[in-house]
Amino acid sequence: MSDSIQLPDIGDSTGTLFTPEQEREFGEMFLRQVRSQATIDDDPEISDYIQTIGQKLAANSDNPRQSFNFFVVADPNINAFAGPGGQIGVNSGLILMADEESELASVLAHEIAHVTQRHLYQSLEASKRLSIPSAAAMLGAILLGTKSPQAGQAALVALQAGATQFQINFTRDNEQEADSVGMQTLSRSEFDPRAMPSFFEKLQQSNRYEGRNLPEFLRTHPVTVSRISETRARAEVFPYKQYPDTAAFQIIRTKLRAHTINDTGEATQYFKAVLKQGTEQQQDIARYGLALVQIKQNKTAEARDTLTKLVRKYPEQSHFINALAQAEIAAGRYNEALALFDQALTRFPENRSLLLEASQAQLLAGKPERTRKLLTDYLRHAKATPEINQMLAEAYTKLGNEAEGHRYMAEYYYHAGHNRAAILQLKLALQAAKGNFYLSTMIDQRLGELMEEERAKREEDRY
Ligand SMILES: [Zn+2]
Repeated sequence: MSDSIQLPDIGDSTGTLFTPEQEREFGEMFLRQVRSQATIDDDPEISDYIQTIGQKLAANSDNPRQSFNFFVVADPNINAFAGPGGQIGVNSGLILMADEESELASVLAHEIAHVTQRHLYQSLEASKRLSIPSAAAMLGAILLGTKSPQAGQAALVALQAGATQFQINFTRDNEQEADSVGMQTLSRSEFDPRAMPSFFEKLQQSNRYEGRNLPEFLRTHPVTVSRISETRARAEVFPYKQYPDTAAFQIIRTKLRAHTINDTGEATQYFKAVLKQGTEQQQDIARYGLALVQIKQNKTAEARDTLTKLVRKYPEQSHFINALAQAEIAAGRYNEALALFDQALTRFPENRSLLLEASQAQLLAGKPERTRKLLTDYLRHAKATPEINQMLAEAYTKLGNEAEGHRYMAEYYYHAGHNRAAILQLKLALQAAKGNFYLSTMIDQRLGELMEEERAKREEDRY
């Protein structure tokens, strides 16, 4: 958990602005802001996928020691952005727009390059008298393209003040550098460098059909004809070869599509069209998509039938096993679902999304102690996410441990950017923990941290 905030003005132009610890803290504050202003898709398989491809690129970047966190924003608009501390968000709309994995990778590599080349801090340095909480709030608002009052008072004030002193229009030089550095990263990571100019061109063209609304991505990263041709010339240096997509890319896009198309008829039509023309693997993945839509429609028998066949044909594909288990859950067959997860976890013990889905299934099946055990063991070597905190809160509450239930709920709210709700939960936890000295002390300390943060923010608002 983060310490109380004592951060310098960003406008400090002495050069090195942050210690690594401060940068991490700034990044986490930014992420909480993003969560309070937009919906992050916390589906374990979707977040694992974006994290996997992102970390692969990051490991091949100019600064492999820089830490990164990748996440998907549930938003049909075309956008991707790099915040402080290596926090990189990509909208589901952009993932669906990428027809090849290398296209998605090219945007991520470009954003990674903005981070490793410190472009964000260069533009931040131009601004004066901005404290880190203000900057985090404002960056969230600017990069997400939101003007919502939820952005918070500090963000709005800062936005007005920032109109003259602060902009995230990367300069033309920044963009060129991010393209060329990003392309090196792309190639070192075994993705197609040519996907970068072709995807930027596609983005620019899509803009024509969308009417007056410029995709947010093009607002913060202006794509011009000359930039595309420069990038294309740069890509020509690399030898031609085949860059097959991973199955995970196609599966995740299918899942996103099944999730985002609200009209199940339209989704069904889309997947049936793929069945008529795709390769065998594409057809099988379209069948998976159809099954996901059928689960939504409560046609669980049909979904189970399709998914059982897919699991038999692709026993190594954990996404299919998980979908089959979800179909069993939707049909109320919890024991079958739990058995599937148990088998799968024996086979793939390191698979994080299977573990999280299994924990959720245990909760639904009325076995909160199993959920508690699975997640507590997992947290010994991994970081909590809002989703994990929420599951633990529910598990503890069901187990009759109110104090821990409120404590985890507080962490859930805190990471969702809702400090006041978090403070309320901690106060409830403190009441429930009466008589437990150790737990009370821990809760009290955390309460102090959050109240200090809240106090600092209120002062910020006044300024
Ligand atoms: Zn850019």
